[in-house]
Amino acid sequence: MSKRDYYEILGVDKNADARTIKAAYRKLAMKYHPDKNKDNKEAEEKFKEASEAYEILSDSEKRQKYDQYGHAGVDGSFGQGGFSWQDFSHSSDFSDIFGNGGFGSIFENFFGGGQGRSSRRGASNKGEDLQISLSLSLKEIAEGVEKKIKIHVKEKCSNCNGTGSANGKVKTCPQCNGAGQIHQMRRSLFGQIATVIDCPACNGKGKIIEKPCPKCHGEGRVSTSKMITVKIPAGVSEGQYIRLRGEGNVGVQGGARGDILVLIREKEDPMFEREDSNLICTFPISYPQAALGCEIFIPTLTSKIKLKIPAGTQSEKVFRLRNQGLPEVHSSSRGDLYVRIKVITPTSLTSREKELYKELLELDKKRDYKPTKKFFEKLRKFFV
Ligand SMILES: [Zn+2]
Ligand SMILES: [Zn+2]
Repeated sequence: MSKRDYYEILGVDKNADARTIKAAYRKLAMKYHPDKNKDNKEAEEKFKEASEAYEILSDSEKRQKYDQYGHAGVDGSFGQGGFSWQDFSHSSDFSDIFGNGGFGSIFENFFGGGQGRSSRRGASNKGEDLQISLSLSLKEIAEGVEKKIKIHVKEKCSNCNGTGSANGKVKTCPQCNGAGQIHQMRRSLFGQIATVIDCPACNGKGKIIEKPCPKCHGEGRVSTSKMITVKIPAGVSEGQYIRLRGEGNVGVQGGARGDILVLIREKEDPMFEREDSNLICTFPISYPQAALGCEIFIPTLTSKIKLKIPAGTQSEKVFRLRNQGLPEVHSSSRGDLYVRIKVITPTSLTSREKELYKELLELDKKRDYKPTKKFFEKLRKFFV
């Protein structure tokens, strides 16, 4: 698969300055961000592609290498797996692009604090993290669920036991003469600066395989698929990630395993809206029920609850059922269920009903109704 040109991806020309590149990336990232394109594989790919291009072109050193050598010049800077989300999410520019809060939060959920890029360096042949998404119904979220998912993952090659070598023999790396590191001269404002980097030919090991394993072509791992079981705690929400440590790709030539990141997606529920751990639903009742009072049964995600509607209940009245919402993750507390009453006006009447409504209309004339403020105000106060 040939890679597209980074400048072409961002739609900027080769001489574009940093600001233009950032602006172009921001536009694409907003358009293709996973938060805005639920379950859209193509948008996700576009987002990753743009992010990778930006990662390179926003770094003057990497950009220079890319300009000089093309993709070959920068692929190595991401380890064997090429670009990885983990690397990118920690680039210092990220919060700069999205501002604080907003889209940034998905990445905080995703990667948690602590784990910086630096921890990845050094362990250069660690396997990649895999990202999968999982759609859950509100009922599953309410109760917690265990899901079996088929994943495509790289496993240790059985032919060479993960070493990548056909005969078990290694030879000294010709590029670094076995040192594992090379000196690189870099020009800067202060003149030539020497930096020591891991040798790209042997990944810092000093040795390379003499004869690569024919099954895995020296990688020490092969692609396969397997079923995994993911335990989802009750109360998760859209955009959160669950990290399964050490379940991702096995690393090159026996490197440590990456993780699996399970992205939680929430299926739309036909009955309930969700506000954090609270649920909201609208329940229709008739005029006689509202006027005389009644008992109704509210379906919850897992059972039914009886609710007493007092006589004289108005449309849009909200009843709060404590602790009938969703559980909070790893906590014993629960949200509430808000039931918004809607008094339904019948759209067709039998002749008998017409008679009765006419009679009611006559009786009702004694009442003096006055306009009031919008009733939406009442609802709003519950949630602010
Ligand atoms: Zn092999
Ligand atoms: Zn070397």
